[in-house]
Amino acid sequence: MAAHRDHRRAIPGVDRLLARPWCRLLTGSHGREWVTDRLRAVLDEVRAGRLPLPPSDDGFAHLLQHEIARAETPSLQPAVNATGVILHTNLGRAPLAAEAREAMARAAGYGNVEFDLDTGGRGSRYVHCADLVSELTGAEAALVVNNCAGAVALALTAFAAGKGVAVSHGELVEIGGGFRIPEVVEAAGARLITVGTTNRTRLADYTRAIKAGEVAVILKVHRSNFSMTGFTEETGLDELVALGAETGVPVIHDLGSGLLADSAALGLPEEPGPAMSVAAGVDLVAFSGDKLLGGPQAGILAGTSAGVTRAKAHPLCRALRCDKVTLAGLEATLALYRDPGRAMRRIPVLRMIGAPVEELEGRAEALLERVAAQRTDRGVGPLAAEVSRGRSVVGGGTFPDARLATAVIEIDAGEAAERWMAALRAHDPPVVARSRQGRVLLDLRTIAPGEEGAVAAVLASLEGGAASECASPEELGASQRASSGEPAPSERASPETAGGEAV
Ligand SMILES: *Cc1c(COP(=O)(O)O)cnc(C)c1O
Repeated sequence: MAAHRDHRRAIPGVDRLLARPWCRLLTGSHGREWVTDRLRAVLDEVRAGRLPLPPSDDGFAHLLQHEIARAETPSLQPAVNATGVILHTNLGRAPLAAEAREAMARAAGYGNVEFDLDTGGRGSRYVHCADLVSELTGAEAALVVNNCAGAVALALTAFAAGKGVAVSHGELVEIGGGFRIPEVVEAAGARLITVGTTNRTRLADYTRAIKAGEVAVILKVHRSNFSMTGFTEETGLDELVALGAETGVPVIHDLGSGLLADSAALGLPEEPGPAMSVAAGVDLVAFSGDKLLGGPQAGILAGTSAGVTRAKAHPLCRALRCDKVTLAGLEATLALYRDPGRAMRRIPVLRMIGAPVEELEGRAEALLERVAAQRTDRGVGPLAAEVSRGRSVVGGGTFPDARLATAVIEIDAGEAAERWMAALRAHDPPVVARSRQGRVLLDLRTIAPGEEGAVAAVLASLEGGAASECASPEELGASQRASSGEPAPSERASPETAGGEAV
């Protein structure tokens, strides 16, 4: 008890510390009130015994600097994706092409977002990207909104509020993050009319529902994130469009991933693209900007002029509108598709999907050599690491069955695996890897060449198998970050499911 009181008495007051020269420097550069609050936070931690009491007043300088650095770390940080899940929803889905990044930086100031430079009068936000989408998909018209879930909700609200939406039983999917088709239909103020069965839905099932006279829209949903095999049957878009034309019922296609490139050229199984839906004659097709398209988060509706006009005229459209920076990034990404070869080279998602395993192996070997050299320089022992073959996945709720042969740096960490995973996440920039049975795995496919230096640096800094006895403030920061909030996606899921949640 006495020892405890003594400990508390030894803690200096805020005013005494604020008068120290190092503290005056910090209040000068960061603002007196804010630094005082940070200092109070440090003193609280020391009082509670969560930080060691420094031997002298000046020992608080280090603690305060650390607290300031922690508080100044932005919530949103760039990270290295070493998971091998290309469209990792938890890590922000598609990393953007340099062209898109530049366009977004340029658009951050004033611009002709809703201003007509020809007439000097008011313009429309919705003209941007629309012609490019039409050009690339063959659609008469297009509309860009906040995301694909929003695009589907908008289309259904504009076409079917208060009426019925016919959907195959086998397409009542959950995309993830609360996007479930029955709920989206309900949220649009429409009534769900399920047709067919889970495994088989025929044209006659749709016809029967339409004959009953309640169907305002036929909704076809792409089963993005799972596949169905065995005794199955589904009605193709062509047949649905013909039925729609015959009966005067519009057809809306929720496609999800908007693959504008050739799936065969990427070495992937056949995947329907928006151009196919448009060619089939749907009224509207909805797809994402940040899945296989490889752009910023956006939802795109493409289809007939009448369909797009109807969606645009609905008040919900205004609530789902896209920001100018997004529009600029999307426009620059779409523009790359004018030359398919250029799109493959310049759009990171496509480049990563297409990267041959031999190239990845070469990069992995070179990276490990770099790590070994750095560890020798620093006088630390070598890592028990090797390059092995693994499997990357496309992710983002797309290509659920596709596995891409890849090169993985596999580190035998033993007991230290979770501590090393935390050290990787605590690095600047954080490196998100996977761990399995005492091994830390880094997949080269999703690590950009420009990020290899950061990965090498953190691998060169990993130490020992035993837990460290006395944590420095740096390590405390690391463990704070590592233990805050949800577990990292890498720990929660295997590559087969990580990032598979698409919304
Ligand atoms: C991913 C997906 C969505 C949602 O797209 P967001 O852009 O994430 O809103 C909707 N429908 C399908 C079929 C999808 O695959």
